[in-house]
Amino acid sequence: MSVITLKNYALGEWKEGKGNLVSIPSAVTGETIAKTGSGGLDFNAMTEYARDIGGPALRKMTFMERAAMVKALGLAVMERKEELYALNHHTGATRKDGWIDIDGGAGTFLGVASKSKRELPDDTIILDGPVEQISKNGTFMAQHVYTSRRGVAVHINAFNFPVWGMMEKLAPTLIAGMPAIVKPATATAYLAEAAFRMLIEAGLLPDGAVQLIVGSTGDLLDHLNGQDVVSFTGSASTASKLKAHPAIIRESVRFVAEQDSLNASMLGPDATEDSPEFELFVKEVVREMTVKAGQKCTAIRRALVPATLMDAAEKAISEKLAKTTLGDPSLEDVRMGALVSQSQRDDVREKVSALVGEATIVFGDPATASIIGDDAQQGAFVSPVLLRCDSPREAKAVHEVEAFGPVSTLMPYADFEDAVNLCNRGGGSLVMSLFTYDPLIAREVVANSGAFHGRIAIINRDSAKESTGHGSPLPMLVHGGPGRAGGGEELGGVRGVKHYMQRTAVQGSPEILASVTNSWVKDASVEDKAPHPFRYKFGELEIGKTIVTEPRTISLHDIEHFADFTGDNFYAHMDEEAAQANPFFPGRVAHGYLILSFAAGLFVDPAPGPVLANYGLDELRFLTPASPGDAIKVRLTAKSKKKRNDEYGEVRWDVLVTNQNDEAVATYTLLTMNAI
Ligand code: NDP
Repeated sequence: MSVITLKNYALGEWKEGKGNLVSIPSAVTGETIAKTGSGGLDFNAMTEYARDIGGPALRKMTFMERAAMVKALGLAVMERKEELYALNHHTGATRKDGWIDIDGGAGTFLGVASKSKRELPDDTIILDGPVEQISKNGTFMAQHVYTSRRGVAVHINAFNFPVWGMMEKLAPTLIAGMPAIVKPATATAYLAEAAFRMLIEAGLLPDGAVQLIVGSTGDLLDHLNGQDVVSFTGSASTASKLKAHPAIIRESVRFVAEQDSLNASMLGPDATEDSPEFELFVKEVVREMTVKAGQKCTAIRRALVPATLMDAAEKAISEKLAKTTLGDPSLEDVRMGALVSQSQRDDVREKVSALVGEATIVFGDPATASIIGDDAQQGAFVSPVLLRCDSPREAKAVHEVEAFGPVSTLMPYADFEDAVNLCNRGGGSLVMSLFTYDPLIAREVVANSGAFHGRIAIINRDSAKESTGHGSPLPMLVHGGPGRAGGGEELGGVRGVKHYMQRTAVQGSPEILASVTNSWVKDASVEDKAPHPFRYKFGELEIGKTIVTEPRTISLHDIEHFADFTGDNFYAHMDEEAAQANPFFPGRVAHGYLILSFAAGLFVDPAPGPVLANYGLDELRFLTPASPGDAIKVRLTAKSKKKRNDEYGEVRWDVLVTNQNDEAVATYTLLTMNAI
């Protein structure tokens, strides 16, 4: 294969780095497969290009438009994925490993886009929580909102998932309306560059939305300011160095770090050697050690088992590891490929030596590796290494030193408290897993250990088949962790998008807030002239359009009829004496569902028209009981709208049911689908 010269993508153009280029060797053969460098780039101009050209173009689009773009980009990468698999094995990864990276990367674009489409508004501002009533007469209120940050997101990525690592950060950034400058790790930059090229060649991104640096970031960080975000994945030491950069401190640049962590997996105290959980635990430890040759930020580094099961666990894990075939990852019968580079292999060996002393190697030899494949002799292969530490309470290194390869340490715990303490000794991790069939143990582990982990996967015989496993970050779940894991959070559905936005509390009158938020706010003015709001098509319906109905009196006969018809004979509606004894009711009262039904009867405009369907109620509250003789009326107001497709859109209606004394009987949001 000829050597590829990687190109940067800066100021809308592909540019080869000037000066000395760095050679990137194949993890498998050791031969140079790419050359790369970023010499000659004007990093300041790149940040300005992103802020001046990319940012405004993205911010012109609504969340829906950005989500549609991200989805189309994910599909574009999916369509060309075989080009990426052709490079994948040079990183040392098997096809199965590559699936996590390549299909996983494109899938993350689709996952984040789909969550955003469902949960974000057809707008450029996100509302955060309800309107806060901060004045007595309701003329001054507040609403928290998120708006896009006006800077550039700098993504500094790790070598282990060149495609996924880039795409999992880009998806939320683009949906947030922020441009990005991506800097992949050099060791696998050829794969990241190929995937990035697909994003550009899809022709869907506005100018300046993304740029790429395949080499050193030079003085890039010097040019960052308080509107920018740095999102970093890699080692704890680089993270500390970058966080302490003068510009990052001076400008309070938001810094999201996801770094190596000593993730633990715990076999629950309820497990026995014969329990399904024991076998599931063993399988997961082996999988996490060997997938990607253990180069996963989420991999299990510490495997905790009840002291009585230490020997059995060691034997079972070792037997499974012995079956792992190691070698050229492009060969079909190879289960585990190479580490990314010789230097990574040296690093793993060094880290294993740091663990030996506190722990003993019980499987594998970091110095040798028996491999399959002619080409594999020059590769960065290392055998899986299982260590055993019998005194983990006294040990230090096993809880602190991460060997970023196929390495894990087995350790015993005496009782539940000991298990939790040991688990938390990692000082903060991306994920822990627990193998238990006891729901109470699960609850206790989460209560006592949750603060130390970004994710807790609890796996047992009921969930194992469908479980996504210990090590898989998912687009809808938070990825990140406290302390040692970097203290950052990525992904988590729409939560991930908000990392690239600013939350602001906006205060003002109802009228002002309604205009700012594009949604009707309680006490803002309404328009209640005919025709009925159900007569308007989605596009014509104005926010604030209202109908106030005539009153309807609820009789005792209505209540009894409703009880008989529905079968809901609850005493509060049917037994005067029992109802009076209830502190909430003055006597027999109308069913809440009767009130809802009567409300619909009052506000519905029955003729066929643009309202296609009622698809639910949100935030329903019954506030004042309705007694026989009370007269209820309804105010229905168009609160907000969200276009779903070219045929229909969702309308949210504020509904207020009041009685003859103007007391609120019920409030809720009604959701309808309206024809465009
Ligand atoms: P590094 O922390 O060295 O590198 C991570 C990223 O930071 C790379 O893109 C790297 O670029 C970049 N970088 C390094 N120094 C600077 C700098 N001064 N300014 C700007 N960018 C910089 O991690 P490695 O990739 O070398 O891996 C080392 C260890 O990190 C592993 O052994 C493992 O323990 C941990 N790790 C954790 C991961 C996780 O997902 N949590 C993933 C990968 C590694 P370049 O490659 O060009 O140096």
